[in-house]
Amino acid sequence: MSLSFPVPRRRFLAAGSVGLLAPVLLGADGRTSGVPTGRFRRRSVPGGMFTLGVASGDPLPDGVVLWTRLAPRPLEPGGGMPDEPVAVRWEIAHDERFRRSVRSGVRVARPAAAHTVHVDVRGLRPAATYYYRFVVAGQVSAVGRTRTAPAAGSSPASLRFATASCQNWQDGFYTAYRSMADAELDFVAFLGDYVYEAVGGPTRLRDHVGAGQPYTLDEYRIRHAQYRTDPDLAGMHAAAPWIVSIDDHDVDDNWAGEWPADPALVEPVPFAARKAAALRAYAEHLPMRTGPGGRMYRRLGFGDLATLHVLDTRSYRSMQPRSLRAASQPARTMTGAEQERWLVRGLAGSGARWNLLANQVMMAATEGSRRNFDAWDGYRAQRRRLLEFLATGAVANPVVLTGDQHATWVSDLRPDFGDVSSPVVAAEFVGTSITSGGDADPAAIAEFHREHDPEFARNPHFAYCDNRRGYLLGELTRSELRVRLQVVDTVRSPAATTTRTAATFVVSDGRPGVAATES
Ligand code: FE
Ligand code: CA
Repeated sequence: MSLSFPVPRRRFLAAGSVGLLAPVLLGADGRTSGVPTGRFRRRSVPGGMFTLGVASGDPLPDGVVLWTRLAPRPLEPGGGMPDEPVAVRWEIAHDERFRRSVRSGVRVARPAAAHTVHVDVRGLRPAATYYYRFVVAGQVSAVGRTRTAPAAGSSPASLRFATASCQNWQDGFYTAYRSMADAELDFVAFLGDYVYEAVGGPTRLRDHVGAGQPYTLDEYRIRHAQYRTDPDLAGMHAAAPWIVSIDDHDVDDNWAGEWPADPALVEPVPFAARKAAALRAYAEHLPMRTGPGGRMYRRLGFGDLATLHVLDTRSYRSMQPRSLRAASQPARTMTGAEQERWLVRGLAGSGARWNLLANQVMMAATEGSRRNFDAWDGYRAQRRRLLEFLATGAVANPVVLTGDQHATWVSDLRPDFGDVSSPVVAAEFVGTSITSGGDADPAAIAEFHREHDPEFARNPHFAYCDNRRGYLLGELTRSELRVRLQVVDTVRSPAATTTRTAATFVVSDGRPGVAATES
């Protein structure tokens, strides 16, 4: 059996046996009830359909979303599929050889959804590892590993997760995911900029398909498909469930609610249509329960150990301010009023020992050269409201996990960043990028520190900063959160790379902020 999916590194990625599986109906009419029978039309099924691998996401105690897409030619409009529905068999098992099958079924991949498949499997056991795969007409996908969340009300001893963000294709290879895939994670929280719309500069290492930026649904679909052809990214999706969130580049640089980055610019399509296309392609290609146009902010529970509050800091925000005075206006919002209420209530009522926020743009103040009005610095009244609420003690162990900066920034959060007597109410871990910004060579590292060390010194809430590529690995127990900064030696080559721990940070139960930094 041949697979066009890149050769898997990990044992569990190997395609399984098809021996026990019935052939699958290619139903031109899309009706697939019952066991596939005489209408099986093997000859019209293209070969090599699983070029984009498999994925899972948004784990619940009793279920998880499984994903794949049929796309024999993923870089073409339509993915090389016939313009008709295709029945896809899915299967989930306790073991990677599928001897102990748990559930299976048939789902129709439709042209209107780019032949993507989302299966929201339920009836699973909590805190359990599962393996899953898809089959179409004798073609078998790679095998994915996933995990359900611990049961509500249970008291898990620990959780292992990673945060990742900002994977500009043009800036390098996704080598960071190799070591992450070996970490046997409970989940990956992706914090924005999964794809980039922007055209890279002359030093780019890889080209996007298509000239110029994407605007149409076909163009955003091709962008997502292209990213997923990177074997390390596909491998990481197959290794653990992801909990994804969006940021600006998933649509358009620095967009805000109804506004593109530059509302004065005349673009090929109106921004509303572009945003709808981008968000639809995103929902199609990522393993989440939210459909196109659905609410992206959501909450996932991991027993009484942790609740993950996933924010959407793009869709409902006010336009970025242009002055400090405007940035301080009380009416300005990063989340919209409804999401703010949802967040405050959910934080107070989660019942979990740790409250993790999957946030996209930096919350800590950057009063020096890095002041960034696209981040929470531009929405400071709401930031202060949120941090003052945390100061009331109503929220157990809040920790903010962030992306966007293409550098690591670890800090204590306080309602008034300018006043060292203002209480520390939470820690923030801004994770570096997977690729965006490219390799941090000695010159880039020196430049980064020349620019930011003075500001670091002026802002005592910062505990650490670093501009190498990589991700954060979190180990949560009942007594502490341990966060390791994992850095890769290069993103310039897909060949062997090494990952090492550059620094470790500790947050202790009941003591807000960063308790220790080891580097
Ligand atoms: Fe980014
Ligand atoms: Ca961003």
